[in-house]
Amino acid sequence: YSNEYPPKIRASRIGETGLNLSCVGFGASPLGKVFGDVSEEESIATVTQAFNLGINFFDTSPYYGATLSEKVLGKCLKALGAPRDTYIVATKCGRYAEGFDFSAERVTRSIDESLERLQLDYVDILQCHDIEFGSLGQIVNETIPALQKIKESGKTRFIGITALPLEVYTYVLDRVPPGTIDVVLSYCHYCVNDSTLEDLLPYLKSKGVGVINASPLSMGLHTENGPPEWHPASTEIKAACKAAAEYCKENGKNISKLALQYSLSNKDISTTLVGMNSVRQVEENVAAALELEAEGKDEKTFAEIENILKPIKNQTWPSATTNE
Ligand code: NAD
Repeated sequence: YSNEYPPKIRASRIGETGLNLSCVGFGASPLGKVFGDVSEEESIATVTQAFNLGINFFDTSPYYGATLSEKVLGKCLKALGAPRDTYIVATKCGRYAEGFDFSAERVTRSIDESLERLQLDYVDILQCHDIEFGSLGQIVNETIPALQKIKESGKTRFIGITALPLEVYTYVLDRVPPGTIDVVLSYCHYCVNDSTLEDLLPYLKSKGVGVINASPLSMGLHTENGPPEWHPASTEIKAACKAAAEYCKENGKNISKLALQYSLSNKDISTTLVGMNSVRQVEENVAAALELEAEGKDEKTFAEIENILKPIKNQTWPSATTNE
């Protein structure tokens, strides 16, 4: 990036979609105020700066802030005034503030509602949101076929699924025809405290499925301010992550930067979605990505962090109990 100003972050193809996603993606759940208040003005400035610095991928859901995230992201994208094919938008269906509904009827209506809120004619990726809360039989036999129809209609270019428990992915991917599901979105499983997604990468590759990795800061665990009230991790996980953040601070390092760099280090992961709600966070996260490319990881500090997190490494928290 030596001759470019501002320098642009790396982008790479995801799965077999042909989509070229920036390595840092913009998680838009904070625009729905799920991590605290953020004004519309700040949201627009944040998305604009992200786009100007090379972030071309924006992820939202009707669930985030009870549709607020989609509405605000729509305004922000409009404010960009950029050609539609210069940014990639993902949204979801099946999870709403009112609860879950993975029926064909609901998800088919959902995409129209999302497009209206986003002020778009199509999204690039439509994902079934947190499928472990639904019946996996219904996901395979009803929801995915409905999403395929939506894909055929042109309202989305690609389809995917999201879940916390990793075994859900193999359950679904083993039961749908090859090429049906374009991407999966996994979260909190490729972070400095939990890297269990790594074991699943060869399987996903063999299925031709692209990988979106979300929540590199483990939804706020790897920040100096700590996680929000609703964070589902155990007290033990929270305490260990707090200790790692404090260690970094005492040594003039920043846990958020290091945690993001950890997630960005795996080249088999096309993109990592970070939730951002300020221009400053965008600039810090893009700088972290550029610095990683130029200088590599700060191995000494990583070794210390990994040591502090060792007792809780790969521990997660319960999500829904899955049923078929
Ligand atoms: P995250 O790990 O990205 O953490 C977000 C938190 O970190 C926010 O409080 C944000 O303000 C803060 N932050 C970001 N950059 C920072 C920096 N440089 N310094 C200090 N703090 C910083 O968690 P997330 O937002 O939950 O995940 C990212 C995105 O991934 C979401 O917005 C969403 O789009 C997607 N996601 C999807 C699912 C799903 O589909 N089930 C689940 C989780 C996340």
